[in-house]
Amino acid sequence: MFDYHIHTAFSFDADTPPAGMLDAAERAGLREICFTDHVDMDGSGFPPADLAALSRAVCALQGGAVRVRFGAEVSLADEACAQRSLARLSGLEPDFIIGSVHLLEGRDPYEDKSLFDAPKGEIYRRYLENIDRAIRTGFPFSVLGHFDYIAKCAVYSDRSFALSDAPELFDRIFDFLVEQGKGIEINTASWREDAAWGLDILRRYRERGGQFVTVGSDAHAPERVGRRIEEAIALARAAGIPYLATFERMRPILHRL
Ligand SMILES: [Zn+2]
Ligand SMILES: [Zn+2]
Repeated sequence: MFDYHIHTAFSFDADTPPAGMLDAAERAGLREICFTDHVDMDGSGFPPADLAALSRAVCALQGGAVRVRFGAEVSLADEACAQRSLARLSGLEPDFIIGSVHLLEGRDPYEDKSLFDAPKGEIYRRYLENIDRAIRTGFPFSVLGHFDYIAKCAVYSDRSFALSDAPELFDRIFDFLVEQGKGIEINTASWREDAAWGLDILRRYRERGGQFVTVGSDAHAPERVGRRIEEAIALARAAGIPYLATFERMRPILHRL
């Protein structure tokens, strides 16, 4: 099994070095993981990870029971953000890049809960509008990260995200990703402790031509590595998604589901 969204101490919001996260992956019985530390050039002010150092750490961790890949989670926002992110990645050869939208119109929903004063459907639609713009700013990512990040941060009694919240926006986003050969991620941290959601959304992704997904725990600590990955895979299978992807030098390797 794979976990393609793991943060290490190279991220501003995690403390465990790569070796410690790798040990956790081995304990969780994973076959392959990808470290995806944060590069947020979206104006949030968080210091970006030293990806050159992460790359060297990944090289030093090869040869064990778990294959390790070198990746990054890059915030998508506007064209200027895309250019700054490209500059951060210059000279590096990542295996995989998650493109994620972390801000809603420049505000951080993780910190600023007043964003959720409006009805859920309205906020979720606005977040998807942000995604729809941000994925078209020219930054070369592999998969769209946590399309439901807004739901992870939300304070509604029912945080779940459904296709019916914004079907036309999901279609626009999926059509663009499929046309560009990019995929989506099933991020198990979005659910927190709640029941998994997303079957209807993944079915729609498949209907629009989606071929593959990646799965990731978004672990920021060892005990979260590999969490609910089997559930994510079962969800993808139930939605009829043909492949689970891993990546090498930005090229997808497809595993039949
Ligand atoms: Zn993220
Ligand atoms: Zn993350």
